[in-house]
Amino acid sequence: MYKISLRGLSKELIDKNKIMSKQITSKNTENSNEFYTVLPVFKKGIADVGSKIYNNPTLEDLENEIWVDALGFDGVYEVSNLGRIKSLGRWVSNGKSERWIKEKIRKQVLVSDGRLTCPLKGVSINVSAIIFLSFNSDTPYNPKKQCVMHINKIKDDNRLCNLKIESISKSHKINYKKNLLPHLEKNNKKARNEYLKLTHKICTKCNENKTIINFEYGRNKCKSCRKIEKKESYLKRKIKPQQ
Ligand SMILES: [Zn+2]
Repeated sequence: MYKISLRGLSKELIDKNKIMSKQITSKNTENSNEFYTVLPVFKKGIADVGSKIYNNPTLEDLENEIWVDALGFDGVYEVSNLGRIKSLGRWVSNGKSERWIKEKIRKQVLVSDGRLTCPLKGVSINVSAIIFLSFNSDTPYNPKKQCVMHINKIKDDNRLCNLKIESISKSHKINYKKNLLPHLEKNNKKARNEYLKLTHKICTKCNENKTIINFEYGRNKCKSCRKIEKKESYLKRKIKPQQ
């Protein structure tokens, strides 16, 4: 949806831009910066300047590009504020001999949900996260509760200025409002239908197998157990202030 390749655009649009795209391809190797500033013409409003920069193989710094060590990969990989990842020139040993590996821009892979990943030392890394965290290594980050969000919602635009840390729940809310999670809605419906088929459930508190009428929707503790718990917590709250 947010890719700005020729794929997915109408034929008419492609024809209109055919001459232009030819110019772009020839320019691509010489002046890659220009390549990206021209591309958004294809479909206004979707692509922002900066998307696709990650594919630029030139070893020269692009305009306003800043490189820092990739978090956890010091001396091996660097990431840039424009979303590129580079492996540094270095000696690599296989135990018997050493060989020199040239500096190289790493290829990033678009996964099915539209995000970019990159295999670093055999581990597939979420590019947006490693870029943000490499530049903000002092920022506390809890991957269980937080995620690195794309501000403009273009998932392959990993420029630093487009990234921020957000709680997963808030990010989900934003995506839901913008209707960016159709697959989740489908899954939720499916889960709900599965749940409604249940006739019995085992309460996680009293371990009794009870009919589904004894549970509120989605709850794993039975109604009577929840009642007891609510009462207990109420009493706790009531007693505490007096202490
Ligand atoms: Zn129970």
